[in-house]
Formats: sequence, C-alpha cells, structure tokens
Amino acid sequence: MDASRYFDNAATTPVDRRVADELDRVQRQVIGNAHSIHEAGREARALVEGGRARVANLLGAEDPSQIIFTSGATEANNWVISQFDRIAISPFEHSSVREPALHRGASVLGNDGYNLETPIGEPSLLAVMGVNNETGAIIEPPFKPGPMLHRDLTQSVGKVPFDLTGVAFASCSAHKLGGPKGVGALYVRDAGSIEPLLRGGGQEAGLRAGTLNVPGIVGMGLAAQLSHEEREQRHRHALTLRALVLEALAHTSDWTSASAMAEDCSPFILSLGFAGVQGETLVIELDARGFAVSSGAACSSASPEASPVLLALGFEESLARGTVRISFGPQNTFDAAHDLGRALAQALEGLRSQGGRR
Ligand code: PMP
Repeated sequence: MDASRYFDNAATTPVDRRVADELDRVQRQVIGNAHSIHEAGREARALVEGGRARVANLLGAEDPSQIIFTSGATEANNWVISQFDRIAISPFEHSSVREPALHRGASVLGNDGYNLETPIGEPSLLAVMGVNNETGAIIEPPFKPGPMLHRDLTQSVGKVPFDLTGVAFASCSAHKLGGPKGVGALYVRDAGSIEPLLRGGGQEAGLRAGTLNVPGIVGMGLAAQLSHEEREQRHRHALTLRALVLEALAHTSDWTSASAMAEDCSPFILSLGFAGVQGETLVIELDARGFAVSSGAACSSASPEASPVLLALGFEESLARGTVRISFGPQNTFDAAHDLGRALAQALEGLRSQGGRR
C-alpha cells in the first residue's frame, strides 16, 4: 500500500529506507556469529555493540550494558512481570503487561481520568507505561517510593520526552520506530535485579541466551539513532498531521476524543470515538478508500471485548466500540492527512444517514 496513507503507525511502522538498506547490507555481507572469536565473529560483535550503544543513547541509559536485546516489547514485558509476585499495574497497560500481570494476581491501580492513585499495600513491582498505545496519553506513575518501577516505553521512545530516573526496567520495540519487526530491548538498571530469561550459551550477559539477531539489532540501532536525531522534526510533523485530520472533522458532530482528555498527549496517536458507529465499520470504510487506521490496539483486534483502557476512562461500552485510532509517522504527507480527515467525515455521514447507528 501507499505508505503515505498508512495511518496505523502505533501498530507498526514501515521500515525506514535507510534502515532497510543497512539491513540488506548486513544480511548480505556480515557472516559471523557475534560470539565467535574469529574476524567474522568480531565484525558481527562490533555491529551488535554499536546497535546497543545507539539504543542506550535513545533511552538515556547510563551504560550500554544495561540494554538487553529481546524479540520485542512483549518478551521484555513478560520477562519483567515473571520475576515478581506482588505486582501493581496501571489500568492503561498494553496486553503484554496486563495479561501476564493479571495471570500472576496483580492489582490494578485506581484512576481518575489518566491520573493514577497510589498502590494499596506494598507491591514489589509497579508497571506504568509511558505513552498509552490506544490514546497517546502520557501516563505518569503515582509517587510512592518502594516498589521497583517498570515502564513500557514502546510508544514513547523517539517520540516524546521521558526520563529513567527511578526506573528499574523499561521496554521498547524496533518496529514502532522505523526498524525491523521481531527485535526489541529491555533496559535493566541493575543486572542483579533480574533472573535470566533464557539459559544456554550465555549471551546478553547471561540473561538471554541464543545467537544474536545481528541484522535486527543493527537495524534497531540505526532506527534508534535516526529517531533520536530527527525527533523534533518528526514531532512537529505529527502535530501538523493531527491538526489536519481534526480540521477536516470540524463540521462532524457527536464525537469525543480519549486523547484530548489527557493533560499531555503524544501527537503521534489520535483516538476518536463516534457515537452509534462501530469502530470496525469505520476501519473497513476507510480501508475501502485506501487508508489504514485501526479500531484500537492491533493486538486486541481479535478480542471481542471493548477496550479496557477506554472503559477505565469511563467510556460507555458503545462509545468504546465506536473508537478509531489514527496514528502518524514521518512518511504520512499533509495531503494524505487532509484526505483521511475528509474520508472519515464522509464515511460517518454515509453511515449515519443510512441509520448506521448500531
Ligand atoms: N507495549 C506497547 C505500548 C505497544 O504498543 C506494543 C505493540 N502494540 C507492545 C508493547 C508490544 O510490542 P511487540 O508486539 O513488538 O512485542
């Protein structure tokens, strides 16, 4: 599809052209296992350590050794959660935090809008994401010294400011940044605070064994560097794209935005709820017009339930089901954003006039 009309960048992003070129080069030219001692191994190892330094820099880690490569944020989140027994999570967490945490009997923090209440009792781990993947809201942990803090920064890195002060663990995924799918990282402040995920060959400081995904790590590193260098211009671009979509909806009535409820919001994600219309119907209508958006988190599109995030914000179930998520990236053009807004307004008009209020 035409990437300029792909507005589902919170689900995944197109691979940046410069990253794709580098992936191709590494796949073709770099032969070695990063743990072999010969020249081919040393070449691969140097590339891996370069990638680690770039990811550490994007995250603001004190030392590259605090970055452990994983297959993505899901793995990193599950790994952290598996280490603790008394867990508290925010009601806004991605399913890759929420599901394993609830499986381990976690409690969910109370909330007033996006403001979180302090945990009851003495959790050993508190998981509070950076940017919510459905609404773009920037979530702040409640102040309470004591529990170790895990932050899922998958939708934050390279996009909005955050800081690792007081953070024990943080996760991210390359493919949300113009990098390849299937590679991510866990920031571990103190290696002694976590048990190995995979035992075997001792890779990744003995914490995650297995032959390293050299191209993936190099691609993640380059995507991290580019998104770090280009963060301000990408941020400005997203603000303009969002404004263009909203402008085109100026004459559309009966909608609300879970993004606008946030005091502080990432401009890369816009959640719009339309009374009486199914989110999925809108996604299909827009797909037919050549635009990709989603009706919530891609990972939960297989689940029939309304979004727990929107329900926690007090949305009625019907409105939670009438929500579309538009998420922006550097490849989206101003024309495409304007056309998307108009297509959305037209689709809504059509559905509503047909009595599409379901
Ligand atoms: N956390 C958040 C906030 C996300 O948006 C996603 C991806 N939708 C993930 C975790 C999981 O990332 P991955 O699928 O790359 O493991």
